[in-house]
Amino acid sequence: MRLHVLHPDRRLPANPVDGPVHELRDAYGRVIRDLRVSLTDRCNFRCVYCMEPDVVFKRKMELLTDFEIIRVVRICQSLGVRRVRLTGGEPTVHPTLPELIGDLAALGLEDLSMTSNGSLVSEADLVALRDAGLRRITFSLDSLEQERFARLTRSTTTPERVLMSVRAAKRVGLDPVRINAVIVRGFNEDEVVDLAALARDLDADVRLIEYMPLDSGHRWSQDKLVSADEIIDRVSSVFPLVPVERERSSSPAARFRFADGAPGMFGVIASVTRPFCGACSRLRLSADGMVIPCLFSTSEYDLRSLIRAPATTDEQIAQFLAAATLRKQAGHAIHDANYRQPDRPMSAIGG
Ligand code: SAM
Ligand code: SF4
Repeated sequence: MRLHVLHPDRRLPANPVDGPVHELRDAYGRVIRDLRVSLTDRCNFRCVYCMEPDVVFKRKMELLTDFEIIRVVRICQSLGVRRVRLTGGEPTVHPTLPELIGDLAALGLEDLSMTSNGSLVSEADLVALRDAGLRRITFSLDSLEQERFARLTRSTTTPERVLMSVRAAKRVGLDPVRINAVIVRGFNEDEVVDLAALARDLDADVRLIEYMPLDSGHRWSQDKLVSADEIIDRVSSVFPLVPVERERSSSPAARFRFADGAPGMFGVIASVTRPFCGACSRLRLSADGMVIPCLFSTSEYDLRSLIRAPATTDEQIAQFLAAATLRKQAGHAIHDANYRQPDRPMSAIGG
């Protein structure tokens, strides 16, 4: 089978995967256990580190249908994928989210979670998602100061609105509830302690993320990066931290508990300064049906055309997924002089 590689400058040799496929293993021996599924590239926010105001969204016909998503996830599961995270864009704008979650949950995955900006869901929505089979939820919240939050997200939503979602998710029993914040120098590095304090106040899992060069505006620069070391130093000078084991060896976050025994967990995702590529077990499916082996891939593989071709079998899809996995790169090369940012921003990859 030949992969349809977008970005012809990177056209790859013919697919070596023929015959039955039993797992998704890359050329470096890493086995895929986690699938990130982007449900849409649309969003009601335009976060400065993610999406420019003039972003052009895909047309509906370009996006995978629920039926197509479920088919791909089912095939991935048969190839060893255990955990699925739904993301976007903003996944809660997806019109049939509870039904889709219900169908995915019925596959019997080990874990089904979602990342959301938390601005659109009510408690009743969260009950519906939980009842459909969602296990865990992560909300993004980058600032607790209203004016700054508005500037960061280019929206009229307030931090309190997102916190309402966090509290509601806890009440309805989604566990653990996690809060992600991207730290960007000049925007919110002075809030890392206040954001970490949310973990203690809400008994939640707070993760601060290094700013990655994946924004559609190509605004990233080294001087806007706040390193994990700096984040940990700032937080531990106020709340002494005790390191705890990563959830799994493939988990991106270095985790800590609070030395004084306060509730909650604190973590840092150091994708830039301490890459965890060697233990990566992830594959990504974009909302428009491209398989993206790595956040930093500059090549992507057009699964949508294959799915929509008449009479495509599950085995052919499995072979395609295996071939795309074989093209997973060893790691990102952000620090190389000739590093090229992928054309697709985080919002269209599915962060
Ligand atoms: N809209 C949802 C949200 O914001 O949670 C889900 C999609 S968003 C692309 C997923 C995650 O990617 C969010 O936690 C967001 O903060 C993070 N993200 C987006 N752009 C990023 C960047 N340039 N560097 C680091 N993280 C980024
Ligand atoms: Fe939307 Fe999430 Fe990107 Fe912000 S980070 S613009 S909420 S997709």
